[in-house]
Amino acid sequence: MYSDPETGLRGIIAIHDTTLGPSCGGTRMWPYESEAEALADALRLSQAMTYKSAAAGLNLGGGKGVIIGDSRTQKTEALLRSWGRFVDTLGGRYLTTTDVGTVGRDLETIRQETQHVVGLDVTLGGSGDTSIMTGLGIYMGMKACASEAWGADSLRGRTVAMQGFGKVASHTAEHLLEEDARVFAADISEGALDRARSMGVQVVGVDEIPGMECDIFAPCALGGVINHKTIKQLRCQIVAGGANNQLATPEDGETLHHRGIIYAPDFLINAGGVINAAAEIGQTYNPERARQQTERIYEKMAEVLATSRKNEMSTAKAANMLAEARLASVRKVRGIYRK
Ligand code: NAD
Repeated sequence: MYSDPETGLRGIIAIHDTTLGPSCGGTRMWPYESEAEALADALRLSQAMTYKSAAAGLNLGGGKGVIIGDSRTQKTEALLRSWGRFVDTLGGRYLTTTDVGTVGRDLETIRQETQHVVGLDVTLGGSGDTSIMTGLGIYMGMKACASEAWGADSLRGRTVAMQGFGKVASHTAEHLLEEDARVFAADISEGALDRARSMGVQVVGVDEIPGMECDIFAPCALGGVINHKTIKQLRCQIVAGGANNQLATPEDGETLHHRGIIYAPDFLINAGGVINAAAEIGQTYNPERARQQTERIYEKMAEVLATSRKNEMSTAKAANMLAEARLASVRKVRGIYRK
């Protein structure tokens, strides 16, 4: 935890696991009501990053940063640079990038104080906005689920209800609209809704979206939205979206399974961003390679669906197994000392 009264910064970096490599995860800026709430979020999100990178086959561990504050009013150059100094104290054990409340330009400011930043703009030698590949990966995950639900992976004419229409949702929607899916979105920000309308997305109320009759419900705002209350409201066949930690508790994954709703595990299908960022670490960024790796999310999702079917277990459990098996396997090698 880090506090810098001069700049108003209060932030937390959580490192969950570094078996596979340095921990990597975005910086989230959110007006948490308490430090305890921010800490719980950082811990949960860092664990999700461990699972995400492990399942995606990346050599990265799990970490996450959170800044307590309102990104619209409290994000100053001094605050971001102070955050960069905090990141720097960890000497590369934690690599940061964007998340809710932070954008590419913020990374340029953070970069003034630390080298441990990924996802910088391509003109600065980085891999650019993570949300572009994240959007592609979610779309690929949706298609794999469609194949399971309807026997074909086409999303043409399918209704997708998006909760939150920020960076990730809008990039996912681009692919959906290109395939002639019918996209609906709810957001608390007028700016986001304007963008939705300009793309041809139909806007619905924030309270209506979880219970909207649709083919795919796509949580693309914050976590915990699949819980004992909302599960009863859902009228969809698939839950597949970009938000991290969508399930409020592990039991919610089981409930979805028993209700016959196909759940695309969040960390599996929203890995496009970290796949893109990993493509710049220790090598020259190649967008084509990042795209190909992101498109493989389709196969990963299909593998998880097959495991779920074969073992009669939830997709949430099947995806956890996939990630845990890789961590356990690499841990065996890491236990051996090498100069
Ligand atoms: P963003 O800040 O651009 O978008 C989030 C949007 O959700 C905003 O428009 C916000 O107004 C809206 N929102 C917040 N609360 C809401 C509510 N209660 N109802 C409706 N809308 C609400 O962030 P983003 O980068 O698009 O990330 C969205 C989610 O995807 C987050 O959970 C993030 O952790 C996750 N994610 C992002 C990336 C990435 O590459 N950016 C990668 C993986 C996962």
